[in-house]
Amino acid sequence: MDFDDTPEQRQLRDAVAALGRRYGHEYYLEKAKSGGHTTELWNEAGKLGYLGVSIPAEYGGGGGGITELAIVCEELSAAGCPLLLLVVSPAIVATILARHGTEAQRQRYLPAIADGTTKVVFAITEPEAGSNFHRLGTVARREGDGWLLSGRKCFISGVDQAQHVLVVARTADEATGKLKPALFLVPTDAPGLTRSQLDMEIVATDKQFLLYLDDVRLPADALVGEDPEVGLPALFAGLNPERITIAAGSVGTGRYALSRAASYASTRSVWGRPIGTHQGVAHPLAHAQIHVELAGLMVAKAAARYDAGRDLEAGTAANMAKYAAAEAAALAVDTAIQSMGGNGMTTEYGVATLLGMTRATRIAPVSREMILNYIAQHVLRQDRSY
Ligand SMILES: Cc1cc2nc3c(=O)[nH]c(=O)nc-3n(C[C@H](O)[C@H](O)[C@H](O)COP(=O)(O)OP(=O)(O)OC[C@H]3O[C@@H](n4cnc5c(N)ncnc54)[C@H](O)[C@@H]3O)c2cc1C
Repeated sequence: MDFDDTPEQRQLRDAVAALGRRYGHEYYLEKAKSGGHTTELWNEAGKLGYLGVSIPAEYGGGGGGITELAIVCEELSAAGCPLLLLVVSPAIVATILARHGTEAQRQRYLPAIADGTTKVVFAITEPEAGSNFHRLGTVARREGDGWLLSGRKCFISGVDQAQHVLVVARTADEATGKLKPALFLVPTDAPGLTRSQLDMEIVATDKQFLLYLDDVRLPADALVGEDPEVGLPALFAGLNPERITIAAGSVGTGRYALSRAASYASTRSVWGRPIGTHQGVAHPLAHAQIHVELAGLMVAKAAARYDAGRDLEAGTAANMAKYAAAEAAALAVDTAIQSMGGNGMTTEYGVATLLGMTRATRIAPVSREMILNYIAQHVLRQDRSY
């Protein structure tokens, strides 16, 4: 057991932190509030190899693991630039394609995801199915050699910036007639695919969309993998990287908020001495700091297990990390605001701007209740009620 980064990981952490600092939260806010995107930061991170750290070297990546991608997510968030699409394009989609895509899909998509020239977003959530993916209603029907896709998706992040969307649909099993999951790479400009932006109370550069798939015609090679049985394992392959990287981003956001608050508390003087000298201010910050660091440990554990190929144990740790980090980030942002008084609620001080995002990470990509269900069933061996 080693609680320190390797020298290479330390180097990566320092370099990503330096890149994040060059842009910073003001840059992020300006883009988010004007409806823009963090294109410059994304492209630079791509060129420097940070987006592709976990993509195999033979497909243009850095050949590292989810540990390295988690470091990238954490450090950019710690600089006030929480890039949600890191969790989608390099973490979920690239992992699924690296593990389950065809050779042609790996060659086509992975190098472009790694250098940032292509973004592929991920669409599983549906209005009627919600957290219960067994109820997914998006269906793919065979048409000649290809497919026709119909259905609806909601809350899909970053569709406006992406070239493709990886859609989770269902196909009829030829033997049983039952529907089973299958993943399709759909160009965002495909005829029959339309979108509308959701109004969300989140200050972020990556927006959420409703997607309508109305008989979207796809070629045979849009299906991920060669074997029709690959759908379910491919879907599951994306879950651990998603949870670990979103958790790492939350740890970074928690660090960001607490560092802003700590520097404020040590300089703001109301009764002749800095407010941080009052335990009523310092203790809640210390309490939140402990929770952020604990969550960071669980992220590292989950990532280490995942990178060691211990998927099942990584699943439990990734769920716990996601839960702990989302709660810690929400606590850190709320506590930071309280310690900054009225300034905590201003845009200028750059902490209240994270309220919507940290609140949302307690719901997405998997809600705290569904994680508690998982732990209750798989760790505590309780029967499920649903
Ligand atoms: C900012 C943001 C970005 C997102 N980006 C994407 C994306 O890019 N792609 C994508 O596919 N989806 C995305 N989502 C969707 C997200 O994954 C879902 O919102 C989430 O999985 C919860 O599903 P739901 O909203 O349908 O809630 P529901 O499933 O309707 O649940 C509502 C509430 O009931 C609780 N609940 C439901 N079932 C149970 C149960 N059995 N036991 C206890 N409690 C239960 C839930 O925990 C929740 O609190 C995003 C969401 C947000 C907010």
